[in-house]
This record gives sequence, C-alpha cells and structure tokens, in this order.
Amino acid sequence: MSLELSAPPQSEPACADDGVWLECIDCGEQFAPFEEIHYTCADCDSLLEVRYADAPTFEDFEGSGVWRYNAALPFEEGVTLPEGDTPLHEVPRLREEIGVDSLRIKHEGMNPTGAFKDRGMTVGVAVAKELGVGRLACASTGNTSAALAAYGARGDMETLVLLPKGKVAAGKIAQASLHGARILEVDGNFDSCLDIVQELAGLGEVYLLNSLNPFRLEGQKTIGFEILEEHYQDYGEYPDRIVLPVGNAGNTAALYKAFRELVASGALDESEVPTLTGVQAEGAAPMVDAVQNGRDEVERWDDVETRATAIRIGNPVNAPKALPGIYNTGGTAVAVSDDEITDAQRQLAGAGIGVEPASAASLAGLRKLRASGEIGADESVVCLTTGHLLKDPDAAFEAGGDPEPVPNDTDAVLEHINDGNDTMAGRLAQQLSKVADSSALPAIVGGGLGLAYLGYRALRSDDN
Ligand SMILES: *Cc1c(COP(=O)(O)O)cnc(C)c1O
Ligand SMILES: [Zn+2]
Repeated sequence: MSLELSAPPQSEPACADDGVWLECIDCGEQFAPFEEIHYTCADCDSLLEVRYADAPTFEDFEGSGVWRYNAALPFEEGVTLPEGDTPLHEVPRLREEIGVDSLRIKHEGMNPTGAFKDRGMTVGVAVAKELGVGRLACASTGNTSAALAAYGARGDMETLVLLPKGKVAAGKIAQASLHGARILEVDGNFDSCLDIVQELAGLGEVYLLNSLNPFRLEGQKTIGFEILEEHYQDYGEYPDRIVLPVGNAGNTAALYKAFRELVASGALDESEVPTLTGVQAEGAAPMVDAVQNGRDEVERWDDVETRATAIRIGNPVNAPKALPGIYNTGGTAVAVSDDEITDAQRQLAGAGIGVEPASAASLAGLRKLRASGEIGADESVVCLTTGHLLKDPDAAFEAGGDPEPVPNDTDAVLEHINDGNDTMAGRLAQQLSKVADSSALPAIVGGGLGLAYLGYRALRSDDN
C-alpha cells in the first residue's frame, strides 16, 4: 500500500521528468508529470500523487516561505506573492485553560490572500504555465477562488471560478472579483460546483486547480515542514499533535505527505510524526463519520450546512489520501457545533488572533477532545487556523460586540464611557433610571425599546 507512513524508497521510472512523476495511489500506475494533463488515474480514476526520486531532509531547506522547501517541490520557483512563513503564535492563557503541555496556533490566515490556499496556488499556477494551458478554473467555498484569482492575475492568466450561490463569505467574493476572475454563481452547493468544473476540465475547457490537482497539495505540504522546523527550534522537539479543520481534506493529505517524505529520507523518525486530528462542523462531517466508524471511505453527505462556510463540504475528494494520514499517525476526527466554533473564534480573537469561522474549528475540536480525555494534558499541540478574520466580516460582526451610538460631543462621550460602563447591569440601570426620571411617553417607549434591545443582547451572549 503506497500510503504507508514508512514506504520504501522508489526508483525513478522512465516517465519521470527531472526526478518527478505522478503515481496512482490505488493501482500504482505512473505518468509523466508535464506532458499530458492528469488529475486522476487514467486507468482506474483514483487519486494521483506527485512522487520524487529524492526524498528531502531538513538540511536541503534554505530561504523562506513556500520556496524554501523547493527540494520537496517540482520546481525551483513558482508564481509567487510570496506566501508561507506564517506565524506560530503562543497563546499562554488558552494553553493553561485548555490544559495541555504546549499550544501554538499556526495562523495560515497571514498568507497573501488570507488563507493557506496560496501555498497550493504558487505551485499549481507554475505547473499550469509549464503545461502551457489557457484558462484556469476552480470550484470554491471562497478561499480557493480568491487565491486562484490573485495568482492567476500575477501569472497573467485567465481565471474562472464556480461558487455556490449565497454561501460564500463577502471578503472572498470581493477578492475574486477585484483580482479579475470571472465568477459563476451556481445554484447548488460546493460539491455540485466541483462536479461541474471537473467535467469542464475533462472536456479540456479549463485547467483545474482544486485540491484534486495533486500539485496543489505539494505547495500545501510546506505547512507541515514549517510547523516541524519552527516547533523544533522553539522546543527541541516536534509537536505531538496537529489539529486542523477539514473540508476537502487536502490539507490533511498534504501534511501527511510532508511527514512521509521526511520519514523516507530518514530526517524524521516514525515515532516523531505528529498525530493528525481533523475537525469538521456537525452539519458537514462525512470524514468524522468515516473515522468514528473505522471506514476506509467516506459516504457523501448531500445536505450540508454550517456557519463555517469554508468547510461546508459533503464529499471530501481527498479522503482516500487523508484517511490513511489520520489512521497511520494514530489520529482521530471530531465534529463541533457552530456555537462551539463561534466561541473558539472569540477566544482566538481575545488573544489577538483574527480568524474566520472554519479556522476556529481546530481550537473548538482541541477543546472538545481535551475535555473528553482523548487528548492528554501532557501533549504538545499545534492548531492550524486556515483563514483570516476579514474573509468573513459578517460572521466576525455577529460574533463580536456592536458599536454604541454616542452624541457628537466630548462631554457626552466621556459620560457614556464612564457611567454606562460596559456591564449589562450598568446599562440596564442606566436605561431604568432614564425611564424613572422622565414622565414623557416618548422616553418610556424609547427606554422600553432599549430594554428589549439589551434583552436581545443578553440572550445572544448567553449562548457563549
Ligand atoms: C479550504 C479551507 C479549509 C478546508 O481545507 P481542506 O484542505 O479542503 O480540508 C478550511 N478552512 C479554510 C479557511 C479554507 O479556506
Ligand atoms: Zn490507478
């Protein structure tokens, strides 16, 4: 089985180009990488992986960002903005409260377009140039389209994106639009968009840059290299566990591939490989279903719903690569509710780390598995946050506090910030005193409205 953690080194097949080839993860058929376009196996239609004659060691890495890791990539350089080299934040208060040995947040929202998809696109668009294709396309819950639009623009190529109508966060459509992608809104969910764009790719109309494209995952693999290097630098050891949100499961597959390649070169011992732990939203959890039932395949969910739109996916196409990653590293998968996601988003924001809802799923999942005892107090954990807060301004505004209207006058502002101090009791008292002070009907009506509003706020903050 080619996806074992410790697969024996492979010899270079005749179809390889400069030590790089494509290989089917099921039947093992091998293909030249840059002659014809292959997204899946021409023989059995399973997923393909990029394979290399030489596995990378840490000594091979130099420079910064995604292309620091070019010893593990198909080219020396790509179409770059540049991407990668994202922060690995410390969160001491959260660490202590959740109760683990160490906790770091790898914030992929700090990439050029605000999500980890940039790491895949810098490689994917370079491959598109090598292949000499015309139009680039993807289906997207939003972030892939933003990245494709930006990298397509940078590479001077035409881009087309298919989005599920009404289900993409505002920041992401704004990016795709301004970077010049042609945006098609499909009256269906993400999975239907992907079905359509795959058919267009099959007809040769577009070059597909979803994570079904094996080259995308090569770029995303560098998240794994960065985490290992940074963690080792800070603690002298690798993390025990990496917790990440799962949509199409491309990242889960990519991190596992990074670890396998380091194990193959002898740079990493099998016992040092972090445990991969996937988190999905309860309303879109086909991978969790599969893992909790010990299955090797996922069953497609036709109806999916969650506030975390980036992971609102019912048919994770990379599951055949990601499930072995979870199983062979001793990992697991867990589903969290939308409210748990929003709480985690607030907690990260409270530590200065602004993320979109899907990203916060990782922290929500850690909290849940720690509470159930599945994650131990002695573990060193890295949570991956995949996208930036500004991607989904509506979700941020809903999770955050509301602005308070004040008069255009310094004394009034001073009075407001001092007496109406921000406690609920303070504000209620203020409203009540206003009602008591005045016999005028309009003031009473106004006070009543104010109380109703405060009651609504109280209800909203109760489901914290
Ligand atoms: C794409 C995306 C995901 C899902 O990643 P997969 O690799 O498809 O599992 C999660 N969060 C955000 C913000 C994303 O953009
Ligand atoms: Zn095959």
